[in-house]
Amino acid sequence: QTTIQRIAAGEVVERPASVVKELVENSLDADASRVSVAVHNGGKDGVRVRDDGVGMTAEELELAVQEHTTSKISDIDDLETGVGTLGFRGEALHTISAVSRTTIRSKPRDVASAGAEVTVEGGDVGEVRPAGCPAGTTIEVEDLFFNTPARKKFLKTDATEFDHVNTVVTQYALANPDVAVSLEHNDREVFATEGQGSLESTVLSVYGREVAEAMTPVDADPDSDAVAAVSGLVSHPETTRSGREYLSTFVNGRYVTAGVLREAVLDAYGGQLAPDRYPFAVLFLDVPPNSVDVNVHPRKMEVRFDDESGVKAAVESAVESALLEGGL
Ligand code: ADP
Ligand code: MG
Repeated sequence: QTTIQRIAAGEVVERPASVVKELVENSLDADASRVSVAVHNGGKDGVRVRDDGVGMTAEELELAVQEHTTSKISDIDDLETGVGTLGFRGEALHTISAVSRTTIRSKPRDVASAGAEVTVEGGDVGEVRPAGCPAGTTIEVEDLFFNTPARKKFLKTDATEFDHVNTVVTQYALANPDVAVSLEHNDREVFATEGQGSLESTVLSVYGREVAEAMTPVDADPDSDAVAAVSGLVSHPETTRSGREYLSTFVNGRYVTAGVLREAVLDAYGGQLAPDRYPFAVLFLDVPPNSVDVNVHPRKMEVRFDDESGVKAAVESAVESALLEGGL
């Protein structure tokens, strides 16, 4: 393995939370109804993601860790029109396994074939062996950055790394109320959602009762000129936190960050928020796919809208009417 490959790897995998993000996206792409994430010491001493998705055959397992291999593009047109899956570049597993000791164990859901496993240590792919395991996929990533000490030095405390992991898993749990998502840190459950499809019960599972009870529904009567349909939940102006990580926005089902969305929410609260306090918000925007650019940021979280002021107006008015209707 060359230094160039290692540097390229470091670009995508910055910290345990980036590993968690890629693995959870793969589980969701694999049609899982249950995704369980367990990390040790902020993820520095291990990340494990288990799902009950479609799984992989032994042959697919072998391909999954190769560079630029993906099962998610069947046709070159997919690249032009955008794909329905979260990942499609075929880089994540290859990159993660180049900078860690990664074990993948999988068994296809629909085939009566046996399970298989493979371990990759710093890019060295071991033999694919038979393994007893339930249908679905379990990926364990240990000793992250063991062969890239410079990268390892940039990791923060366990608590800080865990905060990043928690934020990532929380966003995917909120975006997918029909998937049972759970998170464990050092063998203790942090949260577990039911996966029954209700946003309210998902918010209750991830943020607890006090926050869940302070939420009011956003359900804008879509005004015919609105550039975005907006729905979700926002909190009472007195139920706030000091961090903006509790403002969750999803565009066409995908977690995104955008200054214009934050501003719209904060403006809707007017002067009702204490200084430097942020409400809880879980907002889903539906916009025409060609009106949003999702490629502003390499990790695809930051987006830009063609009609920024139209989007801002739609979100602001949806949240304002939710607050009014909720008597807040
Ligand atoms: P991408 O997601 O961009 O295709 P990845 O490196 O993340 O690339 O994954 C490579 C391939 O491995 C995927 O295309 C998929 O076929 C397979 N794969 C990865 N994770 C899972 C999973 N949890 N369940 C089933 N298949 C998976
Ligand atoms: Mg992927």
